[in-house]
Amino acid sequence: MDSIFLTDHEQAYVSEARDFYAREARPHVLAMDREDKYPLDLLKQMGARRYLGVRFPEEYGGGGLDVMHEALINEETGAQAYPLACLRSVPHYCAHVIYYYGAEEQKRKWLPGINRVDLVTAECVTEPTGGSDAARMKTRAVRDGDHYVLEGTKRFQASGALADLFLVFAVTDPDVHPSKGISAFIVEKGDPNLIAMREFDTMGWRGLAIVSELIFDQVRVPAGNRIGEENQGFQYLMDTLNTERILVGSGLLGTARTCFEIAVRYSMEREAFHRPLKNFEAISFKTAEMETRLEAARLLRTKAARMLDLGRNVTKHAAMVKVFCAENAFWVANEALQIMGGIGYTTQADVERHFRDLRGGMVAAGTNEIMRLVTQREIYEEFSNAG
Ligand SMILES: Cc1cc2nc3c(=O)[nH]c(=O)nc-3n(C[C@H](O)[C@H](O)[C@H](O)COP(=O)(O)OP(=O)(O)OC[C@H]3O[C@@H](n4cnc5c(N)ncnc54)[C@H](O)[C@@H]3O)c2cc1C
Repeated sequence: MDSIFLTDHEQAYVSEARDFYAREARPHVLAMDREDKYPLDLLKQMGARRYLGVRFPEEYGGGGLDVMHEALINEETGAQAYPLACLRSVPHYCAHVIYYYGAEEQKRKWLPGINRVDLVTAECVTEPTGGSDAARMKTRAVRDGDHYVLEGTKRFQASGALADLFLVFAVTDPDVHPSKGISAFIVEKGDPNLIAMREFDTMGWRGLAIVSELIFDQVRVPAGNRIGEENQGFQYLMDTLNTERILVGSGLLGTARTCFEIAVRYSMEREAFHRPLKNFEAISFKTAEMETRLEAARLLRTKAARMLDLGRNVTKHAAMVKVFCAENAFWVANEALQIMGGIGYTTQADVERHFRDLRGGMVAAGTNEIMRLVTQREIYEEFSNAG
């Protein structure tokens, strides 16, 4: 690969990851989709290569690199299957809160295990009564001596059915605005009052051990498992979401790139009316538009990741990355499927699987509507502040 926007190290890093995934990933991602099988062995291999927690220091089991590298690895992971990129990055969100807001003792206790995949983690935000309006969550955490008692139900947690650690956001002060009364906790598995239900069968994103309900029925959590200050959890969540949106956008971009590559090759080989499909402008113009949209998404993602690495405010850019990558990735997959005709609609073609996965990208980790809500809010704030 050759990119004027990536350093030599970043390009070499991407090449190595491509080689690794080309060798190892395929049987695992097919089993995820077809057998709904959680790819723990592959995740552990990725952990051993430090492909999880890429941006965190090596002393905590991370890769010692930055968000740009983290985004690049998510793109390469997504190129195999978006759900695998999801499982690669969920632990990152949990690690993010612990690393930036946790005590040193908490970092040493949990981060190496999370980054090496000795500990499987789930991020618990969404509830049956709502995901977009996260501030209105209902799960309560009530202090009881040196413990908190958690009561409530979460929904949709990837890895939720088999996690060792749950990053849980819960209301600790119901008498203030919700955004000022939420705290973050690490809940360790083992309490019989923590019940995981798996009743959902999803269109895509299969093999993630997603829960339909994660029930906290008077679950006792040591006060020492609260991360950071009491009632500051919502700010931690908002901060984490910025990185999450850039990583999710990168993963979706990788999946769409694969669809594009498959479709271009197919259009060169497949013939109709005595000529290759690519000779019809109705087909080749699709590939032109696909590449244009992918390149634009890649540049927006790269800018946002670089801004985050420079410590800039990325709230607007992260939301723009998420919605732009999600919509265009799905558009690209749809066009790829069209170029392939009937075979594209069958399970013989990977595009069918990617198409289903990419549809979920417009809902999970913040819907397209919510990303636009965030973007316009930031725009008007910028203009108001400028006077
Ligand atoms: C495959 C998958 C994996 C997931 N993984 C996780 C996970 O690991 N952890 C976790 O906590 N959650 C997870 N989620 C949940 C996900 O983040 C939520 O589904 C998402 O945020 C939307 O919330 P909701 O489903 O409650 O929809 P709702 O919030 O009920 O929204 C329904 C519709 O209304 C629209 N809407 C809502 N409010 C507004 C508004 N103000 N303006 C305009 N439109 C609006 C939404 O955009 C959407 O179209 C996952 C979901 C999926 C599908």
